[in-house]
Amino acid sequence: MLSSMQDVPLTVTRLLRHGTTIHGRSTVTTWTGEAEPHRRTFAEIGVRANRLAAALRDELAVAPDDRVATLMWNNAAHVEAYFAVPAMGAVLHTLNLRLPPEQLVWIANHAADRVIVVNGSLLPLLAPLLPRLTTVEHLVVAGPGDRSLLAGAAPRVHEYEELLAGRSDRYDWPELDERQAAVMCYTSGTTGDPKGVLYSHRSIYLHSMQVNMTESMGLTDRDTSLMVVPQFHVAAWGLPHATFLSGVNMLMPDRFLQPGPLAEMIERERPTHAAAVPTIWQGLLTEVTARPRDLSSLARVTIGGSACPPSLMEAYDRLGVRLCQAWGMTETSPLGTMANPPAGLTTEEERPYRITQGRFPASVEARLTGPDGTTLPWDGESAGELEVRGPWIAGSYYGGAGAEPLRPDDKFSPDGWLRTGDVGVISPDGYLTLTDRAKDVIKSGGEWISSVAIENALMAHPDVAEAAVVAVPDEKWGERPLATVVLREGATADYEALRAFLAGSIARWQLPERWAIVPAVPKTSVGKFDKKVIRKQYAAGELD
Ligand code: ADP
Repeated sequence: MLSSMQDVPLTVTRLLRHGTTIHGRSTVTTWTGEAEPHRRTFAEIGVRANRLAAALRDELAVAPDDRVATLMWNNAAHVEAYFAVPAMGAVLHTLNLRLPPEQLVWIANHAADRVIVVNGSLLPLLAPLLPRLTTVEHLVVAGPGDRSLLAGAAPRVHEYEELLAGRSDRYDWPELDERQAAVMCYTSGTTGDPKGVLYSHRSIYLHSMQVNMTESMGLTDRDTSLMVVPQFHVAAWGLPHATFLSGVNMLMPDRFLQPGPLAEMIERERPTHAAAVPTIWQGLLTEVTARPRDLSSLARVTIGGSACPPSLMEAYDRLGVRLCQAWGMTETSPLGTMANPPAGLTTEEERPYRITQGRFPASVEARLTGPDGTTLPWDGESAGELEVRGPWIAGSYYGGAGAEPLRPDDKFSPDGWLRTGDVGVISPDGYLTLTDRAKDVIKSGGEWISSVAIENALMAHPDVAEAAVVAVPDEKWGERPLATVVLREGATADYEALRAFLAGSIARWQLPERWAIVPAVPKTSVGKFDKKVIRKQYAAGELD
């Protein structure tokens, strides 16, 4: 028997209506680098989203399902596009401005983007690529930047503010199917070619509800969230959409992502929450150690994207800032787990829970699969590949215009679960601890060595700023670990000292015998250690 309840589609349009009315007074503050940041209320964002949709439809002839891309920093105009484009029935495609140019071109062509909304400050990046973008018909330029770079460009060029000026404040938002694509994100290609994931209206709505739950980020309209995680990295972890559900104020850093401006933003605007990858927190720590700043407003910080070294968490504990680790992927919208410890524990008892990747929300089902395909128990010891399924987990990848969706065997199990490529254990009470990505595990003489475990142990050494460990070929053992280490300024530790330090927590047979002190660990477009590059550098003899 069917229920007697109303079948109301869960759409981004509902988030837009709710945020701009019930939470109309909440604000989006964008850092400008000038004396005063730029401020706009959610109500104003709503009016401008209406005008943007009208302009896209009436001037640029954007039709349902058309891809409207953004090449933008985190700022108010980007938030306007986040709502206007999906709510009008088109698909918002967030282009990652840190990708190598060839990849950016490949992705924009593969997505068949018709329009690119671009920040003026990014024209030096976009202009040289234009001749190779085969599907782009319109550019919409927002904010300061040198327009002369677009002289002779094939796509028609529009000014964002001119497009919005004089348009009606009302747009008749269409009724949408909640399963329709709303936002398109490509994986950042850390371990392979980029793949397109299409979030639906429904998945975004449900994910937004979870982000706001107390057992996840627990944000309300009393909070201000500093979104350092870029809007092009898994839709800023779903935060801009989620904030419209509960009126969370947004603090957007625009292009000012260096530790100095971030520290200043925190001191002056006093956000209560922030979200970023570990390398950002590492950089900010170095900054505030050298030049102490007031971070006391930050009650909660969401850290994820790669493993959070326990030493980093402890350093922030000493500053009174609580880091909470989350795990996720582009394919998981991204919220997969969050490491909130169970209730009723002392600070000491909470620690082992906080350093895990966390536990799964009700809508994310998880299982561990062993190499022989069997499902492993949640006993905290049996290590296998994590597989997940749920309403905001991808079931396929975008195949390209007119092509079937892609379901590669290495990404989806025969019964449709997402194979994450992450290896770990799950405790009986549901806390996930990842030991590695399957592709980064070091297979030495038939045993597995966790590169993350060695990295975390190394980063606990006071002289070590960063450490990345990769597998390198070894005649006798198959593979052995290579440790690349960035020392803090003025530090003197050498390999012997670091190896002796590691021996305190890592089994002898796992200790690296190959070492390289490097000026910096190469990073991916979203700030993760780029292990592909380290392996290449080693193979080319650059790390001896
Ligand atoms: P890419 O796979 O291209 O790097 P994603 O941003 O989707 O792009 O990365 C997802 C991957 O990031 C996960 O599969 C996992 O390996 C890693 N990751 C994310 N969060 C964490 C975390 N808290 N701890 C360890 N690894 C993480």
